[in-house]
Amino acid sequence: MKLINFLDFKPLENLRTEMKAPLVKPIFIHPFHSHSKPVKSDRIEIESLDTLTIHPDGTLIFDNTRIILYIADNTLQYLNEAPIISEFHISSCPTIQELVTRGRRLRYFVTAADDEQFVVDDTNEVKRLTVCKDCLLFLNWSQFADVDQKRKKEIVATFTVSSFFEKYPRHL
Ligand SMILES: [Zn+2]
Repeated sequence: MKLINFLDFKPLENLRTEMKAPLVKPIFIHPFHSHSKPVKSDRIEIESLDTLTIHPDGTLIFDNTRIILYIADNTLQYLNEAPIISEFHISSCPTIQELVTRGRRLRYFVTAADDEQFVVDDTNEVKRLTVCKDCLLFLNWSQFADVDQKRKKEIVATFTVSSFFEKYPRHL
């Protein structure tokens, strides 16, 4: 069994910082609820986008689970003017399709975690990423395709991963 790393678990870490509790080693971690919701350490690096399948609804599937995809790779910052490393993807949007077509080898990560905080590098730095606008358009999330720019910005700003998984459950 793979134990979760509580040091990666932001709420606990925030609480620890707030309490000014020192980090004492060794820490004994007791496994609990082996099917508890995924945490940050649950991200998986995938070799290539070919390991993903596309659900008929346009979302991305890895190992029978609906997932979110993000790219943590500074070698490609923009693709067709879309920022690559500051966004996460919830669908097989045109950006993802183009990466597949080009066969771009990048550091792709999948996760089924439930917030907008993503581990973006090997030092376990966590960053808030925003949802890809192409994905919102592709899934027509909140009628994204039909609303004006102001409303589009609101939809991007208020999008949550948990609302995504509510509409498109992790487990198929
Ligand atoms: Zn996208």
